[in-house]
Amino acid sequence: MRTLTLSNGKTIEVECLSCALTSGVIEPDGGVVYETEHFHAHQDVAYPIRGLIILASKRHIKSFDELTEAEQLDYIRVLTKIRRAQRQILDIEYVYYFYNEDTTHHFHTWMVPRYDWMYDFGRSVESVRPVLLHARRERNGEEDMEKVMKALHALKKALNA
Ligand SMILES: [Zn+2]
Repeated sequence: MRTLTLSNGKTIEVECLSCALTSGVIEPDGGVVYETEHFHAHQDVAYPIRGLIILASKRHIKSFDELTEAEQLDYIRVLTKIRRAQRQILDIEYVYYFYNEDTTHHFHTWMVPRYDWMYDFGRSVESVRPVLLHARRERNGEEDMEKVMKALHALKKALNA
């Protein structure tokens, strides 16, 4: 069990954060961006990066090869749909995808848009963590958060139109 403190100050215990999110026990800050039968997309606003999306399966699985055929199809469709919306609505040219199977959560893919400032941290997988931490520590001002939330709502609107 993991103990989590919610943004309203309440503390809850969950077995898996992804399960809690995808089942609606926890409402992500900024809400659900998009949802299908098998997947659930939200932004982790703890990392204030405009257009960043976390796409989680609804089923508690860890590995790619555990996806059923229906989930595989849904996954690629949702990923494509979100990616297209990032490009069309937010003008995001490149995205990094990150997914690890040895997670304390369950199956979830990070879609991390690339912005010019990120290239100071490198161009490959080694830059992902420093970029996320930098965003959390240095790019979390009121104006930054406003941009992030605005993009989040624009994405949400486009995806659910
Ligand atoms: Zn889970």
